[in-house]
Amino acid sequence: MNSELYLDANATSPVLPAAIAAATTAMHTCFGNPSSSHAAGLRAKALLDGTRALARRVLGAGSGRLMFTSGATEGIQTAVLSALCAVRERRLLGKTSGEACPDLLLYGATEHKAVPESLAHWNRLLGLDLELRALPVGADGRHRLEVLRELAPRAAFVCTMAANNETGVVSNLDGIAAVLNETASPALWMVDCVQALGKLPLNLDRTRIDYAPFSGHKLYAPKGIGLLYVREGAPYTPLMCGGGQEAGQRSGTENMSGIAALGAVLDELETGNTFRSHGQLLAMRERLAAALVEAFPGLVFNAPLAQTLPTTLNFSVPGVSSKELLDVFDAAGVRVSAGSACSASKAAPSYVLDAMGVPNACSASAVRLSFGPLADEAFIDAACERILRCGRALYQARPAAALQQLESFGASGWLLFDEAGTQCIAIDPPVALAPRIAADLRARRCRLLACFDTSHGAGGADALGELMNVAPGWPGEGAGIALGQDLLLQRGDAFLFGRARDGALEPDAVRFVFGAPAAGVAAGAALCCHRIGEPAVSRPGVDPLPDEGIDLDAVSAAAYLESHPEALLVDVRELPEHTAGAARLHGRAAQHVPLSQLAGRAAEWLGQPRPLVFVCRSGNRSARAARTLRRLGHAQCWHVAGGLALAG
Ligand code: PLP
Repeated sequence: MNSELYLDANATSPVLPAAIAAATTAMHTCFGNPSSSHAAGLRAKALLDGTRALARRVLGAGSGRLMFTSGATEGIQTAVLSALCAVRERRLLGKTSGEACPDLLLYGATEHKAVPESLAHWNRLLGLDLELRALPVGADGRHRLEVLRELAPRAAFVCTMAANNETGVVSNLDGIAAVLNETASPALWMVDCVQALGKLPLNLDRTRIDYAPFSGHKLYAPKGIGLLYVREGAPYTPLMCGGGQEAGQRSGTENMSGIAALGAVLDELETGNTFRSHGQLLAMRERLAAALVEAFPGLVFNAPLAQTLPTTLNFSVPGVSSKELLDVFDAAGVRVSAGSACSASKAAPSYVLDAMGVPNACSASAVRLSFGPLADEAFIDAACERILRCGRALYQARPAAALQQLESFGASGWLLFDEAGTQCIAIDPPVALAPRIAADLRARRCRLLACFDTSHGAGGADALGELMNVAPGWPGEGAGIALGQDLLLQRGDAFLFGRARDGALEPDAVRFVFGAPAAGVAAGAALCCHRIGEPAVSRPGVDPLPDEGIDLDAVSAAAYLESHPEALLVDVRELPEHTAGAARLHGRAAQHVPLSQLAGRAAEWLGQPRPLVFVCRSGNRSARAARTLRRLGHAQCWHVAGGLALAG
């Protein structure tokens, strides 16, 4: 397998060795409670005070409050609570004085979800019933200042991030401050500075910003430590009360190892020896951007590079889904993401790109690549080389299999190829995949002989036919369609495919059946390929075996492979992933059969039962492969649960 190149720094970063050392030392020598008055407590207190003073210098916090938190979500929570409590007080006073109160909570449309969710939560909990309004951004991802100008006089609280985590777009904070000043807005102002630390100059005391949350784990400190800046004189309400730590602003015994680690990172920022300069980071990003453009023809960047963090690139490759790109990158050992880490498990399109008006086709293919200011030239060299490898893997002509499954939104379509892979027939092609199928067939120089849907109006035969200049529909000739030495015939609602003998198809020669289950097929010999259903193939005349017990964890997979040398290890990832990084497990190279070509190979495995162990990236596709084979009657098949990611 490839070594790992971590290019997902906006999600989180590794921990700086000096930060690990500082945390370890703190646990050994500064384990005291900083509130204790004995020597052990005093040592911890000195570390706490020293780190706060350092943070004050690095952030230019002046005389503002600066407290340690568990991270930015807590800082955001505290700022929102503080601002909303002040609004509530003002409203109570307004009731007696008759003065109008601002009633709008404004947040940038591309804010991290922690912001609108906290606003809604505390607005509800405090019974304020203020209006929440998203401040729109333009196509460049920056806040629309003309809209802010209109709303600012009514705004009680304005939240605008310093830089966006998905796109890296840097906000025009000076412009926002100018609008708030020009309109004499009564609003308090929070700026989420999470992605700015270490990448943009900060001088908080010189700004109008009232609240600025930070998070350690975005810049080489561990998770669970953060900072909140509160401008001197800005309203403040503690989120947590108790022992009165942090001058009563944030109770709870301090996370001393986290504070020590964050201190080590801040120290590097202050001394300026370890992290790359803005100019160096820009030059590195330029090299990465050039490699991406070379590797993926037609690639577009989703935000103007001149206005983004020098460490972030958000791009799309039209016609290739984010998932497909991420799988190829992951196989090459390059860790990138489709957007924010918090939404990685949700399949929804990015609300950040939506807010910028990025077309759906682009946001469905968006990938974020981000690195930290610790990157060096050797790392960027390696990343560029891997990016180019990923491009080659994605675009190389694919070898044809006899049968390829095309899956989209739970429906399956099928491509049948001749042996040379120069001719094919498409059955029930999914509409959404039509452009992709057309592009692939052209790249393979493969001629589409026919494309048809097995049930009326079900698939995308019309769409594919139009793209490939082929009349959609079953050609209707009684003799069927010859594909090399094979034949596709219609029998009622079924379509039978197999090796022709003297221009005819004998019942025992039928390999695949499409459409309705067919009579006139030898029991157990053919596979039925369905348009709907999971698994997409079944074997008439054979009872499916239960699919319990197919999971092998990493340890039992190793033991099984060692004790069963005859077992076949099968990598079911798609070809570009396999090309980007071939799979090996416990010293054994895997045979490559992508999940989309499993049906085509199943007959061979069913004919000569031999133990099968399937593996993929994370264990999802391999589980489907093992389940499919069990349902087809193969008793000895398993998969590696957790996939290559956990198998080491
Ligand atoms: N704000 C931004 C811009 C972020 O990127 C993140 C983390 O993804 C957060 C807030 C939340 O930070 P934390 O993980 O420290 O709670």
